[in-house]
Amino acid sequence: MKISNKDVFYAFSPMNKHTVEVDCGRKVEIETYDCFSNQLKSQEDNFDALDWNRINPATGPIWVKGAEPGDLLKVHIHEIEIGDKGVVVAGKGMGVLAEELDGIRTKIITITEEGADFGQGRIIPLNKMIGVIGVAPKEEPVNTGTPGRHGGNMDNKMVTEGATLYFPVEAEGALFGIGDAHAIMGDGEIGVSGLEVPAKITLSFDVIKNQSIPMPMLENEESWSVIASEETVDEAIQSGTKAMFHFLKSKLDLKDHETAMLMSLTGNLEICQVVDPLKTVRFVMPKSIMKKRITMGSQVE
Ligand code: CA
Ligand code: ZN
Repeated sequence: MKISNKDVFYAFSPMNKHTVEVDCGRKVEIETYDCFSNQLKSQEDNFDALDWNRINPATGPIWVKGAEPGDLLKVHIHEIEIGDKGVVVAGKGMGVLAEELDGIRTKIITITEEGADFGQGRIIPLNKMIGVIGVAPKEEPVNTGTPGRHGGNMDNKMVTEGATLYFPVEAEGALFGIGDAHAIMGDGEIGVSGLEVPAKITLSFDVIKNQSIPMPMLENEESWSVIASEETVDEAIQSGTKAMFHFLKSKLDLKDHETAMLMSLTGNLEICQVVDPLKTVRFVMPKSIMKKRITMGSQVE
């Protein structure tokens, strides 16, 4: 099944009307714009002429059959296909170096199999990932530039091929949306932009009935992680670490102090991004240390 970028939205909301319905377990290829709605096509395109109402479009909303409030939506990313060009911007007022830079510059970068050609002989290896991915929140709409408990603009470079994400469902059908793919991004996304690219993302959905988690989680071959977004990085460290502690408590037969010790010895707190309205960190625990196969929910897989 293919879903084009014909329908996009700019705020995750339980009031959004879905444009398409999908079945669980079926592969879906979703077309996404880059975060500028593909408006910056050349170095000369004037950044000031950007239509700011078209920033961070998410394709959707997609209604996942069977997803109801109180369930978890499971999203497995099979493949991220990108084109041969990306755009990166940096400048005054943007990100951590906001005051160090004058004016705003755009760079169009050619992408090949070997990587992205930054110029000056610098070929940067790709780490394709998805910036915006999530479901409708419970009540107030959240614009697609902001991350949160519903997902959204988490800018987590672990959201890549082979990853499985879990989101708490708050609205009937989950009202899933996705966009803002990056060919490359470093932890922090300090300049506000990754190497922004349109993409075709192949994924499949599942619903885990009657399970709750306080924030999005991610699983891949090597690890489980929680993704925490708060006003400050410090607060995100607090809520993310506590969420992982409670997750491990519910899954492993360990005493509380041992859980904390194991987290302290083998868990990694990592930064996703520090430039969006809320800041995002992840707490990553290696599967190798868990000594048994952990699954989300109580389902037997
Ligand atoms: Ca982003
Ligand atoms: Zn982006």
